[in-house]
Amino acid sequence: MQKDKKKMRESELIIIEKESDMPPMAMSLGYMTYNKTGSWRNIKPIINYDICIDCMICWKFCPDACVLIENGRPLIDYDFCKGCGICAEECPKDCIEMVEEGK
Ligand code: SF4
Ligand code: SF4
Repeated sequence: MQKDKKKMRESELIIIEKESDMPPMAMSLGYMTYNKTGSWRNIKPIINYDICIDCMICWKFCPDACVLIENGRPLIDYDFCKGCGICAEECPKDCIEMVEEGK
């Protein structure tokens, strides 16, 4: 299953320019101003934009809705990101690396 996903052809991908292009879907209620991550996160995702194909699968899977879309590209909101790593796990291009905070 995981290998099949990695084989996804770029021609099969939907081009997403902005958040309003995304289909309606259930969103986490966790993304709220009172739910900032603070200092307890120990790892965080870093996107390699040289490899990223802007498929927005990370946006779709983030359980805390903290992957934003800016100028057609994914942008992680570190104020709210919990460092769970789901985006990195689901990225079909393996271009999200989870790194220790402070590095
Ligand atoms: S980081 Fe990965 S999942 Fe997110 S848009 Fe880029 S290629 Fe897609
Ligand atoms: S690490 Fe988790 S909370 Fe942070 S952007 Fe990725 S999926 Fe969202």
